[in-house]
Amino acid sequence: MALRLMTVVGARPQFIKAAAVSRAIAARDDIAEIMVHTGQHFDDNMSKVFFDELDIPAPAFSLDIHGGSHGDMTGRMLGALEAVMREERPDWVLVYGDTNTTLAGALDAAKLNIPVAHVEAGLRSFNRRMPEEINRVVADHLSTLLFCPTVQSIKNLEREGITSGVHHVGDVMYDATMFAAARARERSTVLDNLRLEPGGYALATIHRAENTDDPDQLRAVMGWLSDKAKERTVVFPVHPRTRDALARAGIVPQGVAMIDPVGYLDMARLLDGAAAVYTDSGGLQKEAYFHRKPCVTLRSETEWTELVECGWNRLWKGPDYGPRRDVTEYGDGDAAGRILDDIARHDVGTARPHL
Ligand code: UDP
Repeated sequence: MALRLMTVVGARPQFIKAAAVSRAIAARDDIAEIMVHTGQHFDDNMSKVFFDELDIPAPAFSLDIHGGSHGDMTGRMLGALEAVMREERPDWVLVYGDTNTTLAGALDAAKLNIPVAHVEAGLRSFNRRMPEEINRVVADHLSTLLFCPTVQSIKNLEREGITSGVHHVGDVMYDATMFAAARARERSTVLDNLRLEPGGYALATIHRAENTDDPDQLRAVMGWLSDKAKERTVVFPVHPRTRDALARAGIVPQGVAMIDPVGYLDMARLLDGAAAVYTDSGGLQKEAYFHRKPCVTLRSETEWTELVECGWNRLWKGPDYGPRRDVTEYGDGDAAGRILDDIARHDVGTARPHL
């Protein structure tokens, strides 16, 4: 009988990562997927467009939970996800990354004694002021299988005493990029729509709470982007949180081409043609590398340290780029296949779920 794997997603980067794994699940008959969307991201251009463009199966459950404080949102997710897990009785719960959705999915499953598999395990910024850091630390400690994208992430888990169930599988974002790059070249018209020449612009995204929540910090980041815009066009798809924060603080960035968030194929095309990338996003730092573009990370630390070590990334206020080398640890574009093989072969023993 096929293993029943419940995928819990809710935020943009999770749709992109889950798309790669869902595609691999669809190609095999030993695993059946139950997709649950918490609703954390809900605008069409933050959610639906990814399901449409990346052939993600429609969620079996859409919980429509968003907004409110971290505690409030996570609490509502905990209640709703627990009910879904009790109803569906999955063999595994699969969570991605570091959002409130990740935390709620992992915590509910662990309390119900359903084994948890965490994709993008072991990443650490060592900055507990980041909500993401808290979510990932807790999710890792609750997980039975921990799928690490990098060598450093395995070392980070070791430091916290987690050595069992840890697998270095590579990065599902690389799988996603390989899929999207070819499709984007065929289908995306974004460069024409925005009248951009390949190589003639930089691509920027900003959405981390550490940059958006403090108006002075937001002003400083936007001022830096405005300076960069004097060198070449800076295209900036604006995350809803950032849009609200800019409006609240009355900041109007000068010279920056602000657009609505774009779908993944347009994003892949924009990356393909960009001369440089400026971002505080985790995913985009790696995608910049996959497209072999230099990246400036607009933060004071990064979880993806190998990109800095290999000269493709630099921190905003850190030293200049080092000499460039290839990063070998992200795999060959089949992280999803490895994840599923490891889940399929893992013996969960005789412990039964508390359902
Ligand atoms: N992304 C997108 N459209 C946009 C901005 C970002 O498709 O307008 C993609 C981006 O290419 C990356 C992912 O969204 O794959 C990153 O998501 P986000 O920055 O929200 O989260 P993080 O990576 O920081 O967790």
